[in-house]
Amino acid sequence: MAYRAELEAGLLLQAENRADQTIVSLTSGTAGSQQAQQTGFTTGRWTAAPALYRRGLRAVLVLQTATGATAVEISAGGIHYGARPPDLTGAVPHPLQEVPDVPFGAAFPPMAPLPPLAPLPGMAPMEMRMGGGMEARMGNMTLQMNPSPAAPTPAGSTPPDGPRRFCTQCGKEAAPAHRFCGTCGAALSQSP
Ligand SMILES: [Zn+2]
Repeated sequence: MAYRAELEAGLLLQAENRADQTIVSLTSGTAGSQQAQQTGFTTGRWTAAPALYRRGLRAVLVLQTATGATAVEISAGGIHYGARPPDLTGAVPHPLQEVPDVPFGAAFPPMAPLPPLAPLPGMAPMEMRMGGGMEARMGNMTLQMNPSPAAPTPAGSTPPDGPRRFCTQCGKEAAPAHRFCGTCGAALSQSP
């Protein structure tokens, strides 16, 4: 298990225990320009979850080990390991989040590599097939088989299924927008 805390906006601390080593990493900056600093100390195995405290600009990571409490201090000057925790009078506990073990470098989400064959932005082929053979395409490509003056359906909503229409002459099903029967040519009622 590793433990992670955001010391300040954009400044992330991660600590993990590997065998008798405590690995402390500091990552600052944004995903585009990240600076990372990693230091390892021989502290012994942790016997309990670490605790983090802030005092001014300094952060103190207190570790419980088989040989007692020990501390790693993080300040502008770097990461220092002290044999015993410093006086924490006035220090404020800082939230420390438990995270799954991740290798250093992947500790914080890197810029995700583009998956192969990623669709270009705006061309995401989001296709929905609805019942009744109706087809809706979203995104830039709008396939409108029956241009009509009716207001376009707002994206994301499903138009209610209209009543099916049938030719009164031959009984064939007729498309809603058709004015004449495609089979026999009879005029179709426009009222649904
Ligand atoms: Zn007909």
